[in-house]
Amino acid sequence: MDRQQEFVLRALEERQIRFVRLWFTDVLGTLKSVAVAPAELDGAFEEGIGFDGSAIEGFARASESDMIARPDPATFQILPEPDGSPADSARMFCDIQMPDGSPSWADPRYVLRRQLSKAAELGFTFYTHPEIEFFLLKNRPSDGSEPLPIDNGGYFDMTAHDTAHDFRRAAVSALEGLGISVEFSHHEVAPGQQEIDLRYADALSMADNIMTFRHVIKEVAIAHGAHATFMPKPFRLQPGSGMHTHLSLFEGDRNAFHDASDELYLSKTARSFIAGLLTHAREITAVTNQWVNSYKRLWGFGGPGQLVEAPTYVCWGHANRSALVRVPMYKPGKANSTRVELRSLDSACNPYLAFALLLAAGMKGIEAGYELPPGAEDDVWALSDTERRALGYDELPHNLADALRAMDSSELVAEALGEHVFDFFLRNKREEWTEYRAEVSPFELRRYLPTL
Ligand code: GLN
Ligand code: MG
Ligand code: MG
Ligand code: MG
Repeated sequence: MDRQQEFVLRALEERQIRFVRLWFTDVLGTLKSVAVAPAELDGAFEEGIGFDGSAIEGFARASESDMIARPDPATFQILPEPDGSPADSARMFCDIQMPDGSPSWADPRYVLRRQLSKAAELGFTFYTHPEIEFFLLKNRPSDGSEPLPIDNGGYFDMTAHDTAHDFRRAAVSALEGLGISVEFSHHEVAPGQQEIDLRYADALSMADNIMTFRHVIKEVAIAHGAHATFMPKPFRLQPGSGMHTHLSLFEGDRNAFHDASDELYLSKTARSFIAGLLTHAREITAVTNQWVNSYKRLWGFGGPGQLVEAPTYVCWGHANRSALVRVPMYKPGKANSTRVELRSLDSACNPYLAFALLLAAGMKGIEAGYELPPGAEDDVWALSDTERRALGYDELPHNLADALRAMDSSELVAEALGEHVFDFFLRNKREEWTEYRAEVSPFELRRYLPTL
């Protein structure tokens, strides 16, 4: 038993914890949980907890379904009760193993771990920080009608006695109570839409934090008589919910993206990393934007006179919010905060798989010495198609089918995800597309029924 494991056992006793929730994530990014009694934990650390992998999306076939969840003591946290009563449960994230003790190739955490080790071999640690957008709703209709947002607020709005404000306060305290630091929180553009930005952390901790975040936000919303949704685009006439993510590589204590002698304070490493993100942008989109609905956010309508502010063209820019990759303005004296912001991800992606692919694309750029094309100075949305083509800006996939085609022929994605996850993901998502394709939508009925 190592020191971290001993610490966990002591904390369980001192804090009189009754349930230990062992968490892991399936291939589509759904959080799974099994509760064990504290007395079982000794064994769980030694041997893990067995479960039926064939019942988990993307994990195993029925014939080889025995799998084992091994709790990671570094992720131990006591779960605060939404109503402030004394906590009686705690959680740990798990790594998934096969009965012989080898890591499971189906485990999204292992996909990310593999990519992080590759980067570590070259001396790099990967840090991320997401800006997570989501909607607070009064209801969650299941008949296909649009939900009601909790308020009519807009960007940065603050009104007295408003549910969203109270909600954000409660949510931020709950997150801080779980060791997740919040940098900013504010009302976003659309009615009911919120944004909470997490303080940067290494990519594995951050992916765990994002899974925890989604769970906590949903619970706190319920305690406030509301529903939270991370669906990318619930409203036809409002912007969708993105998860812009800021990325940086460190070599020890030094930010490898920073170069004080460069005009934009970007190192050659940072430039090649961005070039990697751009070169492979289309191939990784099925994972960063994994649902049929994700593409309504990217290509949809933001309401009269309103931009959706989600990226659609593959280019980068300095402080340019219409570009896929934005390089934020450098703040003097803050070399460590040099970073790049990727704006395509949405709040409903699997963060482990998405971060693994961002890192794979960026590292490919570094290893192969990709050259960064000139940055986009203009608002790329205001250009004509011909102008954009002349500048060489490719388009992100238009829909899930388009994205799956780009992924299917990607060696980079196949290698980073591993064959098991790659095949499962393509199969599962093609089924989703096939089902969607057969739908007759309200658009068609509105448009065609009166005249045809
Ligand atoms: N909601 C926008 C998106 O989908 C982002 C808006 C913003 O933060 N500028 O990406
Ligand atoms: Mg923001
Ligand atoms: Mg935002
Ligand atoms: Mg942003």
